[in-house]
Amino acid sequence: MTDRSSRRIDLPLVDHHCHGVVGAELTDDEFRSLATESDWPAPAGTDSLDSPFGLAVRRFCAPVLGLEPLAPLDEYLARRRGIGAAEANRLLLRSTGTSHYLLDTGIRDARLPGPDAMAVSADARVREIVRIERVAEDFASESTAAGFVAKFPETLAARAREAVGVKSIVAYRHGFDIPAERPSGREVLQAADAWFHTAEETGSFRITDPILLRFGLWSGIDTGLPVQLHTGYGDSDVQLFRADPSRLNALFRATRSRGVDFMLLHCYPFIREAGILAQVFPHVYLDVGLVSHYLGPSAGTSIRQAMEVAPFSKILYSSDSYGLAEHYAVSAANWRTSFAALMDDWIDSGWATADDAERIATMVATENANRVYNLNP
Ligand SMILES: [Zn+2]
Repeated sequence: MTDRSSRRIDLPLVDHHCHGVVGAELTDDEFRSLATESDWPAPAGTDSLDSPFGLAVRRFCAPVLGLEPLAPLDEYLARRRGIGAAEANRLLLRSTGTSHYLLDTGIRDARLPGPDAMAVSADARVREIVRIERVAEDFASESTAAGFVAKFPETLAARAREAVGVKSIVAYRHGFDIPAERPSGREVLQAADAWFHTAEETGSFRITDPILLRFGLWSGIDTGLPVQLHTGYGDSDVQLFRADPSRLNALFRATRSRGVDFMLLHCYPFIREAGILAQVFPHVYLDVGLVSHYLGPSAGTSIRQAMEVAPFSKILYSSDSYGLAEHYAVSAANWRTSFAALMDDWIDSGWATADDAERIATMVATENANRVYNLNP
């Protein structure tokens, strides 16, 4: 497993949370805009890629495209344009050693491929995660308020029949400061009426009402599939303090006996909070996707924090990549390097045998995801 000379872990990965790669050619500005969670250009005279992620692209991606490690960014972008986006994506995705991608198909970005195209480009298996709020918004646009309330749970269940999980972005649309209980039918109908009135005026069914978000979340719980929850850092619209997963304590208590698992995604900077929840609640899991690429040289700190308190059976690998194949390549290489370094530390300081390290790495890289999502690879 662990080759000390290169300090990497060579195991297939299950990337249990990601969003797909833009297949079209990218201008340098489009590349930069996909290389940050900010929605705005950098201040004049500065470069948003002069960043930890920029260093990571130069370190890990430049060699995949045939350049020296740490080749200058301009050279890297020129090389990427030269070989074309399709070939760059193919090389970078295949460099990750990922066997399965669990793809969140809920983002409204027509540039992203569906699961089939992703599978071909990456030469891997792709399974779908259905985003609850996207299904709700799509269904509402062709329904009435009463029809939505009556039929949304079965609509979601039907939409998720071939999926391996569902996902909620309640953290970004409202926050985790929501009551733990399922909302009453009367509450949901009132909220749906108001939602449909607003949509008539604005032409948008973007869902932000906490009662409707809770209704969606509980409909997701009813599918019996693992429920992914974005937490912490992730989108530009997040109010960070409201996306702290420790606010979900009451929800986890209320759902402990329902046979449904909750997957806490990203978690940064609430990694320790997520780890505690994953230790306390048998149905709660965590990953540190997203920061595995955006933290660049510091990602190892987050990967280590994720390993501090939760049982090893509760920690998963994900990249949370969106748009750029570089996200996938950096996350995988960074995880492999950082996790190997951690395991080497544990072995060298007498905390684990080499067999322990191999077993723990396999759990986090693949086994836990295979078990929770029933992937049967
Ligand atoms: Zn994500």
